[in-house]
Amino acid sequence: MTALPMLVPEPGLPAAVTIYEVGPRDGLQNEKEVVPLEVKAEFVRRLVAAGLPVVEATSFVHPRWVPQLADAAELMTELGEAGRDLPVLVPNERGLDRALELGLRHVAVFASATETFATKNLNRSYDDQFAMFEPTITRALDAGLDVRGYLSMCFGDPWEGAVPLDAVVTAGRRLLDLGVGQLSLGDTIGTGTAGHVTALVQAFVDAGVGVDRLALHFHDTYGQALSNVQAGLRAGVTTFDASAGGLGGCPYAKSATGNLATEDVVWLLTGLGIDHGVDLDAVVATSVWMAGHLDRPSPSAVVRALSSR
Ligand code: MG
Repeated sequence: MTALPMLVPEPGLPAAVTIYEVGPRDGLQNEKEVVPLEVKAEFVRRLVAAGLPVVEATSFVHPRWVPQLADAAELMTELGEAGRDLPVLVPNERGLDRALELGLRHVAVFASATETFATKNLNRSYDDQFAMFEPTITRALDAGLDVRGYLSMCFGDPWEGAVPLDAVVTAGRRLLDLGVGQLSLGDTIGTGTAGHVTALVQAFVDAGVGVDRLALHFHDTYGQALSNVQAGLRAGVTTFDASAGGLGGCPYAKSATGNLATEDVVWLLTGLGIDHGVDLDAVVATSVWMAGHLDRPSPSAVVRALSSR
């Protein structure tokens, strides 16, 4: 028997939500282990087969920075035609060139809401990062691709501390003005809380950005991710990033958990009666399988509960 939460909808929430699966990219790039190409390909195929509507497959960042994903081109070749509909991260024009050569149709860029993280993560000043993205995004759009924009440090920065709402809105609008279709607001260090989510989404709406343009990307470092999803749902957001099994340690805190687990958000949405299209048992089985390859258990509460039955 499949364990499921009792279905009790909450009035006023969206009828359907898109889970944007980031495990193969955001998860594996932050794992210590370098996973073999065949295992990565199987991971992606299993997630797609489990009904996840969007699976971000890899990143074309330079292997010097992210050796875990040095096989990005080989992976996309291995995935073949089915892989062309899966988004990939492209840090700059060189990454875009590689995505175009492979005939990919969806790319994402990764920006920082703060000066310090732009410098540390992108080797660019805050302003220079937008100068770097401008030709990347323009060329991608001209080639008929769609572009997602990630914005990190939206709820706090480990060096700068609090990040003002209007600074996040300003950075987000710069990405949207460059042409990104969807903006994913990242709580990179997991310090955000529910009221903060409500206020940040409202600040974007007040600045003329519809909730349909926004996605939310939470980390469970402080145990707030699902509470923050609930706040996002109440604000009308319908896209949430999640990582199968909660893959991806937080690079800033060694023992902390990182990405919100896909299974945990599926459990919440199922209980609320919100359509998500995901086969929970299939994702759990995939995460258990991947945990075997990584030789450590999934940090997801739902994976633990369902796999120990
Ligand atoms: Mg993440």
